[in-house]
Amino acid sequence: MTELKPVPVPNADTQAFWDACNEERLLFQTCQDCGHTQFYPRAICTECESRNLEWRDSGKLGVVHTYTVVQRAPSPAFKADAPYLLALVDLDEGFRMMMNILDCPADAASIGMPVRIVFEDREGQKVPQAAPRT
Ligand SMILES: [Zn+2]
Repeated sequence: MTELKPVPVPNADTQAFWDACNEERLLFQTCQDCGHTQFYPRAICTECESRNLEWRDSGKLGVVHTYTVVQRAPSPAFKADAPYLLALVDLDEGFRMMMNILDCPADAASIGMPVRIVFEDREGQKVPQAAPRT
């Protein structure tokens, strides 16, 4: 039996984010009181504790902040992907996400490399990942 990759389980704070991913949109939160931008989605602003948060659409472009090459898969579901890239990506709107870099040989990745967001389908839930900008 093939083990499947983990599928996100939305909660009240993240449902809008995951619904948007299924439309291949990437949402993030901005505080209407202090202007802080944050990711991952939360019920309150991490700067001023306001609940006055607004969803905004990202342009889905960013750069690699840092990355590692995963040589040994953490579970059988990822074995076929190894070696693969796990990265922290800084989106142009000022927030950071952890994701895989797809369609990129390990020796072609670099810090500062421009990437775009693509979506990987996992059992009907689309998950944001990065790919090199061409
Ligand atoms: Zn705030």
